[in-house]
Amino acid sequence: MPEPLLDSYNRLHDNLRLSVTDRCNIRCFYCMPESGVEFVPRAEILSFEEIERVARIAVGLGVRKLRVTGGEPLVRKDLHVLIRKLVAMPGVEDVALTTNGVLLADQAEALFDAGLRRLNIHLDTLDRARFEQITRRDDLGRVMAGIDAAQRLGFGPIKINAVAVKGLVEPDIVPLAQFGRERGIEIRYIEFMPLDAQNLWDRSKVLLADDILELLREGVGPLDPVPDPDPRAPALEYRFRDGGGQVGFIASVSRPFCLNCNRIRLTADGKLRYCLFAIDETDVRDLLRGGAADEEIAGVIRATVRAKWLGHEINQGERFVPPPRPMYAIGG
Ligand code: SAM
Ligand code: SF4
Repeated sequence: MPEPLLDSYNRLHDNLRLSVTDRCNIRCFYCMPESGVEFVPRAEILSFEEIERVARIAVGLGVRKLRVTGGEPLVRKDLHVLIRKLVAMPGVEDVALTTNGVLLADQAEALFDAGLRRLNIHLDTLDRARFEQITRRDDLGRVMAGIDAAQRLGFGPIKINAVAVKGLVEPDIVPLAQFGRERGIEIRYIEFMPLDAQNLWDRSKVLLADDILELLREGVGPLDPVPDPDPRAPALEYRFRDGGGQVGFIASVSRPFCLNCNRIRLTADGKLRYCLFAIDETDVRDLLRGGAADEEIAGVIRATVRAKWLGHEINQGERFVPPPRPMYAIGG
């Protein structure tokens, strides 16, 4: 057995997020600018074979969970072909996809046939006008059709990622939770993070987990923390006391989970990152394309994990330096 992927703080890394593209078919303001986005030229984006190879080497080092993301992963042609390979990879216990859902209705069947079951669908609001305000596209109907198609086919668990921006989505918090309760879908409220392309973020624009909990208590009913939570799970989870499902919070700003982080990331252009907020990253594309042996790439994966910092410093005021790449270019 190879040595486990431990960083210098003894955190075990068994979770790899694979970004398959930096392109997207919508333009959420907290991620992308409205126009003039400069995407990585196609030739610099890893092929499915290259992504698969990095995943296989990482799995050989103890990675067990893979998540495919982007940009919008469903704009990558024939994504189901890659998903099928990842699902079938010996040693992989879990494959998930994070998508904005716009193209999901068209692709759900092919993804299901490829063996995918876990989906995180990004949806901040059930209100068509606010959806358009946030994403600069009128695609709420397509996302809803994607959710319907996924449920009809039997995907599960399905979770909804809702980004929580203060002064904007307060009216959406309760309707989303009600929708999740009706559909058996966990809503995960994600505190707005400083990863937008236009430097719009500041702390006063973050709708905090505690504020959301208050809105849910008032608008839906009492909630309790889920007992015996997995200490390595990033989300804080709460159950409605009436038994009507649960919600989660990715509270990266108010309650960072860095101390339990088990993730590494591969960007679409072949850089390894030990954190969403990392400033440094390590190139593997040149190794992949330059005839490097698996051991050499394994060495780079180990070195990336070893270099990991204790945690991001969003809460350290002036000391926090946002990463040079926005969310869509890293892979959320
Ligand atoms: N396009 C897909 C999507 O939107 O789900 C996958 C990639 S997207 C970058 C991954 C997740 O990042 C989204 O689900 C969204 O909730 C989250 N996200 C994007 N920008 C964010 C920000 N500035 N703060 C917090 N979460 C953000
Ligand atoms: Fe696209 Fe996802 Fe970024 Fe929204 S959050 S612009 S859907 S990549």
